[in-house]
Amino acid sequence: MKRKIEKRMALTTIKTTIKISKNKAVSAKAFSQSVLGWFDEHGRKHLPWQQEKSAYRVWVSEIMLQQTQVTTVIPYFEAFMARFPTVATLADAPLDAVLGLWAGLGYYARARNLHKAAQVVRDEHGGEFPVRFDEVLALPGIGRSTAGAILSLALNQHHAILDGNVKRVLARVFTEPGWPGKTAVAEKLWRHSEYLTPAKRVADFNQAMMDLGASICSRSRPRCEACPLKESCRAYAEGQQSDYPGKKPKKAIPVRETQMLILANDDSEVLLQRRPPTGIWGGLLSLPEVPVGDDVSQWCEKNLGFAVAEQQRWPMVRHTFSHFHLDITPVVIEALAVGQAVNNNSPTMSVMEGPDWVWYKGSAELGGLPAPVSRLLEKVKVKQPT
Ligand code: SF4
Repeated sequence: MKRKIEKRMALTTIKTTIKISKNKAVSAKAFSQSVLGWFDEHGRKHLPWQQEKSAYRVWVSEIMLQQTQVTTVIPYFEAFMARFPTVATLADAPLDAVLGLWAGLGYYARARNLHKAAQVVRDEHGGEFPVRFDEVLALPGIGRSTAGAILSLALNQHHAILDGNVKRVLARVFTEPGWPGKTAVAEKLWRHSEYLTPAKRVADFNQAMMDLGASICSRSRPRCEACPLKESCRAYAEGQQSDYPGKKPKKAIPVRETQMLILANDDSEVLLQRRPPTGIWGGLLSLPEVPVGDDVSQWCEKNLGFAVAEQQRWPMVRHTFSHFHLDITPVVIEALAVGQAVNNNSPTMSVMEGPDWVWYKGSAELGGLPAPVSRLLEKVKVKQPT
């Protein structure tokens, strides 16, 4: 029964892929021949994990190669294999010893998962790295593409792969729109990968696809003239390589709001306040800020020690940081009882008191000002009578 279901699933896949091939006019046979021809001539065949090939060695290399370049990985791989030549030695080692050999590779979750998975292999698979796809996929830290890569590269089993490099190549060859991090886009790319993966020489084909993505079809400067796929690549034909794969959609940037007080004295100096040392514009002088929703008059009485005679709200200005927009409402105020501070600790209209409050005359020695504050002060200058 199980076999029947598997057979039906396989037939469904074949039908789907044929449909894709017609739509996209890419012949799987021609594609894999081009890739394998390139591999025979240019592919890497002497990497340490390609010697004495085993699922264990390929597994360790695949995990190390995630987010890390081949040249960086080589010495780490060799040291790792010298210390942990088998799954059992890795499983029995203290985690600190594993992390110690990982130091400098980064992304330490990879090392922790490798260690955990080795213990699963020791405890549940008798110390032999599993050779069934579902069992490999069930190990900690191994996803669909890595499982396919381990079993195809080490044992020549027929599995498609879709790591970052392969995603980029396929997205360009088929001009597949959208960000591959989205399930629907990834599914389409998986179908292309399954369709194109040949029945024979799977190990060489998958290795070649990863190498092609890393060395020829690079993110920013693909070397299309040297690419074996240029005849079938739509992005190349249309000159749209940089449009594929689609970028990760930017998250909507949140908006914060504030009110900035503009208070000038008779000498056309504007009251500024030094910001706290950390946070945005840390340590810079800026216009005093009143939280949105707070009454400006009450805030001034409480914090600056004078009553507001008049206030005028200017149109909102937006300043954009990398992670949020700041919508600033400038409020120009005229103070009552100028120079008569109610609170002795508050600034007055004629005296600068302490480092946190400054009557600003445009003096450079006070340091830089936040860009929107500078622009507002320029506007104040223009509006003030000379
Ligand atoms: S032709 Fe260019 S864009 Fe297309 S797969 Fe090759 S290198 Fe990538």
